[in-house]
Amino acid sequence: MTQEQKDRSEHLLQVEELKKYYPVRGGFFRRKVGDVKAVDNISLELKRGETFGLVGESGCGKSTAGRTITRLFKPTEGKIFFEGRDITNLRGSELRDLRQDIQMVFQDPYASLNPKMMVGSIVSEPLVNYGKGSENSLKQEVMDLLLRVGLPEDAYFKYPHEFSGGQRQRIGIARALALKPKLIVADEPVSALDVSVQSQVLNLLKELQAEFDLTLLFIAHDLSVVKHMSDRIGVMYLGNLVEVSDADEIYINPKHPYTQALISAIPQPDPRNKSERIILSGDVPSPQNPPVGCPFHPRCPQVMPECSEKKPHLKEVNKEHRVSCLLYE
Ligand code: SF4
Repeated sequence: MTQEQKDRSEHLLQVEELKKYYPVRGGFFRRKVGDVKAVDNISLELKRGETFGLVGESGCGKSTAGRTITRLFKPTEGKIFFEGRDITNLRGSELRDLRQDIQMVFQDPYASLNPKMMVGSIVSEPLVNYGKGSENSLKQEVMDLLLRVGLPEDAYFKYPHEFSGGQRQRIGIARALALKPKLIVADEPVSALDVSVQSQVLNLLKELQAEFDLTLLFIAHDLSVVKHMSDRIGVMYLGNLVEVSDADEIYINPKHPYTQALISAIPQPDPRNKSERIILSGDVPSPQNPPVGCPFHPRCPQVMPECSEKKPHLKEVNKEHRVSCLLYE
């Protein structure tokens, strides 16, 4: 077995130089005049059973990356391997089969559930679509699933509007679990919920991950939420992955100036711990017209003359820590 084949079988998912661009059209003939570079050349891998947290400000491309990885969106360039198999260009029945193994939990539990369907039908829909189980066994299976995610017994016969935001997200999680997927991509699963219920949903996801032997790609803008959930973390800025590391390491020893700024903004529970907050100047540039060189250079507190000319790439600083910054090249 070659090293490449070995790497592919060890990882559930591998993403190589993935790009997702959206064409920008203009003029009388609506010709293509440019691209919005939502995801611009990211590479990452997910080990079986781990939670990989993808973090960054709104508009950094993390949700687009998640949806492209699950093949809800078609990649512009790059490769995606799932269990060693190239899924980048799957179509038709092959793509449909893949959906059994990769499911999504969406941010907005209000918008992602059909208001006209009973909860039982919503959760059993994927099972029916894939012809799993008989009518009776299916109903029992769905009821067990609803109980497992912490919903009341009569939830099966109710409609989404009869539930709170946290309960609706539990319905979304039950639906994602119905087909017993191997990978769940959770896109900001708690950011639309009250703080008081966020930790309940996060803990539920953790329990289910262990119970169902799941691998999780957890996407969020809140670093403290990501820390609670993740084994490893990737930080995105303007469509680029700027740092990838073990979760503890990235909080103790962040290398990229953007990660350092994000971490400095996390409130400290201990008031004696007075680390200085790094305030970034300016706004995130448009992904239609990203800066030349390092995408972070117009806002970087440690910018150097070469940063506006040369684009850095992810380089290892140690075995489990990669950073994309010229300070480390
Ligand atoms: Fe800052 Fe330069 Fe590093 Fe970019 S490459 S993060 S601008 S120091």
